[in-house]
Amino acid sequence: MNIDRYRVKPNSKVKLADWDPGDDSQFDGDKKDAPKALEKLTDRLEELQELLYAESKHKLLIVLQAMDTGGKDGVIRHVFDGVNPQGVKVAAFKAPTPIELSHDYLWRIHQHTPARGEIVIFNRSHYEDVLVVRVHNLVPEDVWRKRYDQINAFEEMLAEEGVTILKFYLHISKDEQKERLQERLDDPAKHWKFSSGDLAERKRWPDYMAAYEEMLERTSTKHAPWFVVPANRKWYRNLVISHTVIGALEELKMQFPAAEPGLDKIVIE
Ligand code: AMP
Ligand code: MG
Repeated sequence: MNIDRYRVKPNSKVKLADWDPGDDSQFDGDKKDAPKALEKLTDRLEELQELLYAESKHKLLIVLQAMDTGGKDGVIRHVFDGVNPQGVKVAAFKAPTPIELSHDYLWRIHQHTPARGEIVIFNRSHYEDVLVVRVHNLVPEDVWRKRYDQINAFEEMLAEEGVTILKFYLHISKDEQKERLQERLDDPAKHWKFSSGDLAERKRWPDYMAAYEEMLERTSTKHAPWFVVPANRKWYRNLVISHTVIGALEELKMQFPAAEPGLDKIVIE
């Protein structure tokens, strides 16, 4: 899989209309081979997570952003299936509480960044502060505009402190969202996921796309790249993300810590 094609090059122009949400070109098999392929990848991820934890040197932060129904929950469920729950944390960011709002917007984020040996997944993130906040004018433009640079500086600091950062925008089409919202209406087991607020956001699709485009253009950096993941096909989305996470962990060249000396002489009675 050549996933580099999904990485947004720093300072490049992004037109999401040119990124096909239905692309599945980097997988050699077809859909029916996907579960087996993903299983192999999740086994490998399990090993790498154990190594990360054992070595306790590096930290991994995964940021997931998407339109409603984009598949953030599905990625967490499927890509991290089988990984030891002790080593992975999920932080979900909803609309800020009054206390959170009384602080700067990174305050609630920073306390969830990973410690040594940890993987943390952000289900939404500080990027909401240049997305929903921008689309709904929750703060004036001169305030949110400064945030791209602020976020880059924040992430650069994290990277210099040993955090590997991977950011995924799950790219679905507006038609695909329609189908997924309809499923939530049709299937009683999915009713709890349906929120009529999602329909109001859907009406602002073009505003969101503009906000996502600028976010991708301005905050995809060497130390914290964005990937635009084709996400209309769930199986392909999972493969791309799994592959990317594994590749990043393999690059860390991790090693199990040295054993205590003399282990070979120990006799357990
Ligand atoms: P969900 O992820 O579907 O549970 O929805 C969480 C909601 O919280 C979404 O509508 C987000 O747009 C909203 N949200 C997350 N972060 C912020 C933020 N910083 N400001 C305003 N709304 C936010
Ligand atoms: Mg929702």
